[in-house]
Amino acid sequence: MFVDDLHELRELVRRSSDASTLRPIGLHEIVRGRGALQSLSRVLERNGVDSAAKICVLSDSTPKSYLGGDVLDVVRGLLDVYYDVSVVKVGRQPEELVHADETTVARCRNDVARLTPSALVSVGSGTVVDIAKYVAREFDLAHVVVQTAASVNGFADDQSVLLIDGVKRTTPSQWPRALVIDPYVVAEAPLAMNRSGLGDQLSMFSAAADWYLASAVGFDASFSSTPLAMMRREANALWPHVQDLGHGDHQAVDLLASSLAVGGIAMGVAGRTAPSSGTEHVISHLLEMRAGASQTASASHGATVGVTSVVAVLLWQRIRDALNDGRCRADASNVATRDRVLAAFERLDDNGAAAQECWSAYEKKANWIHSHLEDINHVIEHWPVHDPDVDELLMSPSFVAGNLTLAGAPKSFDDLAPAPEPDVVTWALKNCHLMRDRFTVVDLADLIGAWHDDDVDNLLADLKGLAHP
Ligand SMILES: [Zn+2]
Repeated sequence: MFVDDLHELRELVRRSSDASTLRPIGLHEIVRGRGALQSLSRVLERNGVDSAAKICVLSDSTPKSYLGGDVLDVVRGLLDVYYDVSVVKVGRQPEELVHADETTVARCRNDVARLTPSALVSVGSGTVVDIAKYVAREFDLAHVVVQTAASVNGFADDQSVLLIDGVKRTTPSQWPRALVIDPYVVAEAPLAMNRSGLGDQLSMFSAAADWYLASAVGFDASFSSTPLAMMRREANALWPHVQDLGHGDHQAVDLLASSLAVGGIAMGVAGRTAPSSGTEHVISHLLEMRAGASQTASASHGATVGVTSVVAVLLWQRIRDALNDGRCRADASNVATRDRVLAAFERLDDNGAAAQECWSAYEKKANWIHSHLEDINHVIEHWPVHDPDVDELLMSPSFVAGNLTLAGAPKSFDDLAPAPEPDVVTWALKNCHLMRDRFTVVDLADLIGAWHDDDVDNLLADLKGLAHP
């Protein structure tokens, strides 16, 4: 077991040429390795939580294994000795599908408020930790995360993805003080969960290219290579072990967890999820939202993102080919109208709230596009200046799909469990850029008239060819 105080990463951020635009790392430490969980009370003590303090443990109802016992029981046992411990459950039923929607978040917030704790310990994976980071901010609580799977990259930053009016929205939350990653917890998670983490991590390539594009056209000036370099350095240690990850090998899972943690930190440092959330995430968000709307299960977030990451790099390949050929032009008549956006999302609920929420975000982007078409066309006309930078950021479709294959993770929509219906997949691809105000390669594709139904079909045919050659 060792404690990483993140000194090296802090120095890396501090010494970077664009340090003034980046944010300090709010996470104090990552505790890793065998026995990490057993040191939980010392972690709290180091992070300013005095003994006898009231602690709220936030978890869900799904049992999680730790050396033959249950993680939540072990956490309670470890903390009960020193603290006044209460447990708040996010979901009431084992295996219950928990969403971070307004009702669930408000219930957790009120449950925690009633307990008046001085610290929060979250025990879980993506959704539980997203809610806990949000609640910790509401009450300014010290928060320690006991990570129970290496399933997503959102553990180590101060942003939570919550459902607002049925739409996935990145919401400011609070950095946890510490992340506890014990291989006897994380590697005991179902294999599919850790394979999902790989999928979420593979988003870094297409997302980085989208972030660069947003900066090149002038939509979002925040692009920085520092968080990207942090993520890539850590992930490079993981790629050679991806096959072992598929078998649940402890070392490989530990490398994945570490890579995901640094991925989270990178997003926190950037002050936005853009380093790891672009085209691939908006497609997966729509698939998850659509499943939620029809009250059916969707495949796990990371598993979907793995597949949509292949889609995103395939699209980037097509659009770069078109741009390098020349003769492309962004046309104002291709900017989506209010009617088009509302029609795209009308089936997400009965009252139109989700469609309105999407339009309120897209409208800002549409207005910006209308007044900056010249800037966009300038980038298009001078694409050869940008292409080498984009090439550096992207990885090939075969690299992304190949790593998913090695780990035994889904690499096409048909592989997902449950698999979304083909018409839902087409809908999600076609409309993904209309759900939020970030400029991605799909916006560019649509503006140059390269995002018609047959373009989407051709892309999906490319994906099938790659996944099942
Ligand atoms: Zn994600």
